[in-house]
Amino acid sequence: MAKGLLISVSGPSGTGKGSVLSKVKEINPSFGTSISVTTREPREGEQDGVHYFFKTKEEFMKMYEEGEILEYDEFVGNYYGTPTVALQDMSEAGTDVLLDLTIAGSMALKENFEQSVTIFLLAPSYEELENRLRGRGTDSDEAIAARLEMARQETNYVGHFDYVVVNDDIETAAKKILAIIEAEKCRCARNIELLEDVLRINKEMEGN
Ligand code: 5GP
Repeated sequence: MAKGLLISVSGPSGTGKGSVLSKVKEINPSFGTSISVTTREPREGEQDGVHYFFKTKEEFMKMYEEGEILEYDEFVGNYYGTPTVALQDMSEAGTDVLLDLTIAGSMALKENFEQSVTIFLLAPSYEELENRLRGRGTDSDEAIAARLEMARQETNYVGHFDYVVVNDDIETAAKKILAIIEAEKCRCARNIELLEDVLRINKEMEGN
């Protein structure tokens, strides 16, 4: 059986990754989810083992050293990592998994798994990104300026990803991600058994 794809979506904060990924799952609930390990404090309403596995830095590093975390990155002073076994089990079982990772996380996935698909989500423009960040009403002017500067640095990496999607509308962006996944499944390189069958049948017909 073909391994499930590991589809990771990255993009600067304010691009709408969370909303787009929720929409993808709403349209197609069959995707697996990788629950990350983090050292950040839970936000209101977040549950351990549902949104994240919340750990101390010591616990996190111990897990990493013992091979329980396959990639990790630091984001605004906290560690975030992908648990190894759950991800491998889902992929081996043929389940496609959606991941919401930092850029370094997506790059690590791309390096280590041939079944990975990396997607960079872009805001339509920096003006729109700034509007979205201001619209959240959670950040000071300084924090917004810092996030925009970070966005400028992050978008330099867009060319290292397999795909780029502009999020000008959540549903449209979600449908583009679903289309990318469907196209990836049709790649000849991901359908070796089918190709072998075709060649075998052709050989048998030649013999008749
Ligand atoms: P938040 O604190 O808003 O939940 O997440 C902050 C950032 O961490 C997001 O950009 C998200 O993509 C990233 N992130 C969450 N889990 C992981 C992970 O397991 N690995 C990596 N590399 N990044 C992650």
